[in-house]
Amino acid sequence: MVFENAQKQLEKAKKHVKLVQETEEMLKYPVEAFTFSIPVRMDNGSLKVFEGHRVRYNDARGPTKGGIRYHPGVTLDEVKALAFWMTIKCAVINIPYGGGKGGITVDPHKLSKAELERLSRGWMRKAYRIVGPDRDIPAPDVYTTGQIMAWMMDEYSILRGEYCPGVITGKPLSLGGSLGRSYATALGGYYCVKEAVQKIEVGKKVVIQGFGNAGAHMARLLSGDGFKVIAVSDSKGGAYLEEGFDYDKLMQVKEKDKRVDAYPGCKKMSNEELLEIGCDILVLAALENVVTKENADKIKAKMIVELANGPVTPEADDILHKNGKFLIPDILANSGGVCVSYFEWVQNKQGYYWKEDEVNAKLEEKMIKEFNATFDIHNEKKVDMRTAAYVLALGRIDEATKDKALY
Ligand code: GLU
Repeated sequence: MVFENAQKQLEKAKKHVKLVQETEEMLKYPVEAFTFSIPVRMDNGSLKVFEGHRVRYNDARGPTKGGIRYHPGVTLDEVKALAFWMTIKCAVINIPYGGGKGGITVDPHKLSKAELERLSRGWMRKAYRIVGPDRDIPAPDVYTTGQIMAWMMDEYSILRGEYCPGVITGKPLSLGGSLGRSYATALGGYYCVKEAVQKIEVGKKVVIQGFGNAGAHMARLLSGDGFKVIAVSDSKGGAYLEEGFDYDKLMQVKEKDKRVDAYPGCKKMSNEELLEIGCDILVLAALENVVTKENADKIKAKMIVELANGPVTPEADDILHKNGKFLIPDILANSGGVCVSYFEWVQNKQGYYWKEDEVNAKLEEKMIKEFNATFDIHNEKKVDMRTAAYVLALGRIDEATKDKALY
């Protein structure tokens, strides 16, 4: 279902860009799609088998790149869609990678730290056959952390018999991580918003759905820059505050009570209600398929920013476009994460590490350049921003495919 949505986006974009037959054919199938079982010894002595996946979707532009998701809803179909989106995303932000993705069907919150370590090392023992610093480079995604990347990098290094920091990104700083990586997804999205508000007239009231790593940092960046965050939500529910949240206080509440709707004096609401609040900018930072043909007409925000992957379905996309909304698509808005992953990998390869402001300045330059390249196509071809970003990416993938495709 998610993969079908991704293919629908591709079909729509193909009407506006001329591709060689080889590119069209290659983009229909993943290069490799791998499902495996991960046996884990649980703390109570029993053995439990988890299902793991890794998909390398397309490697025309370089080694495949993309995160690993731990979530009870993970399926091979979803991982395939996410790997396809990574292919497009890496081409939009113009880094020399193809796209990949991985996952484990699991609720990581139900595991102890030791079980989580055994599971993560187990994933790498199986995925060892397909990942590698010049082949396929994983990273964090939903519910995976720097600690998990550290265990996986260590496991890979043990199997190889040498230190291999370049096999995975999003690592802790002590193990070859990059300064700025932890908040790069949000920072990239923030740079997009800063560019967008110079072109589209829009107010300062912001609603953020999802308060994980990306959503929380986005709240910090926007509220620190004169925007007013009036509603936020996490998986447990939403919170609304007319006068706007104090970011530091919100973080304290989230850390202490593990939910944003414990914020004193806020109005509680569901995640669905939160999407329909009257506001100027709606940031989608949770999961796929939250804006559908059922609720798209009720979205009041003028600008929509997709920090999550795939939060708007193709049918909803058409409705939002028809209603005059300006949507900054996932493949551009959240590409700051993989962009700084690329910087981390470059630093690992050269064994020389950059200062935080150097990383952020390089990210800013890339985001502004590719935001504007997308915006120009949006204007010239009179297409929505998602289709414009696809057109930009497909042109780049097509060039690489043309230059090497001879089978
Ligand atoms: N999981 C993130 C994404 O969807 C980051 C991937 C990466 O850094 O490789 O873009």
